[in-house]
Amino acid sequence: MNKIVDLRSDTITHPTPGMRAAMMQAPLGDDVFGDDPSVNLLQEKIADLLGFEAALFMPTGTQSNLCGILAHCQRGDEYIVGHNAHTYLWEAGGAAVLGSVQPQPIQHQPDGTLALTDIEAAIKIDDPHFARSRLLALENTLGGRRMPMNFLEQATQLARSRGLATHLDGARLFNAAVAQAEAQRTDPRQEARLIAQHFDSVSVCFSKGLGAPVGSALCGSKDLIYRARRLRKMAGGGMRQAGVLASAAAYALDHHIDRLADDHALMRELYAQLKDIPGLGIEAPQTNILFIDLQESVRERAQALVDHLKARGVLVIGLYRLRLVTHLDVDADGIRRAVAAIREFFDA
Ligand SMILES: *Cc1c(COP(=O)(O)O)cnc(C)c1O
Repeated sequence: MNKIVDLRSDTITHPTPGMRAAMMQAPLGDDVFGDDPSVNLLQEKIADLLGFEAALFMPTGTQSNLCGILAHCQRGDEYIVGHNAHTYLWEAGGAAVLGSVQPQPIQHQPDGTLALTDIEAAIKIDDPHFARSRLLALENTLGGRRMPMNFLEQATQLARSRGLATHLDGARLFNAAVAQAEAQRTDPRQEARLIAQHFDSVSVCFSKGLGAPVGSALCGSKDLIYRARRLRKMAGGGMRQAGVLASAAAYALDHHIDRLADDHALMRELYAQLKDIPGLGIEAPQTNILFIDLQESVRERAQALVDHLKARGVLVIGLYRLRLVTHLDVDADGIRRAVAAIREFFDA
């Protein structure tokens, strides 16, 4: 039996032998006391890399975003956010439930950005009727799309000029940075820093394309991270000998950033092989995520397609809108098998 080609998400990767060795060797302490050397090292590493004063290791990206938003906002404040953003749609309403922070969603433009005029219109004046507009939260990549630098620059500048703080959900920041570096022939770390510099806080996931088993980090000023540390405790995220996990994340920063380009190349190959199949609506991928929209003519066969792929060891997410993601644990052979299975179904 061939290995499963799991294209559901870049979260499904297992630690590599090198990463496991780093985890085994990590010096440990109690991070709630602040004395896990491996956690402290990771926090310094990611803060330095992205150009912030401080960082805080978090169990998940959801908790990292939550603590980020709550570190900026008080009860009765609101944050402005795209209606498809992870913090708004996919985090169980945490900021509202746990922080009494109201989200103010706005519609995305077709390219995933937010119109500056919409952001402007969403910022409320100081009036007792209104929640206090306090924060603009953006996401990059958003559904695998890289947000243009001029958008990030202009949107955050607008927010700042109106007294709002800015947060980036950069769960896949390094995918954006690697794609940008490829286009500009620069270094991904430099691009990540250029993106991050527009924000007061940035959350990054180590457990997505970077291939660590667990963990995210929130980056910001010393003050912000000081507040976030209390919030993390409140949210139940104070971990003890967390260096076992932090060392995997540090290893990922050292060894797995540049290789994201391989995931992007495999994704381009997948797209090239599928884009002409009739009945499939596919937008050219910018990073490691592909959405396939089943058009009217093939919609009734959606479940049959998913079952057909599963029977051939190819796993995807969705039904009428399929999501395929490349990552550390899928190779060129896996992509060939996925392509063959899909083309076989459509007899293409
Ligand atoms: C995965 C993800 C998160 C955080 O997810 P966790 O599963 O909580 O680590 C946040 N934002 C985006 C855009 C994501 O893709």
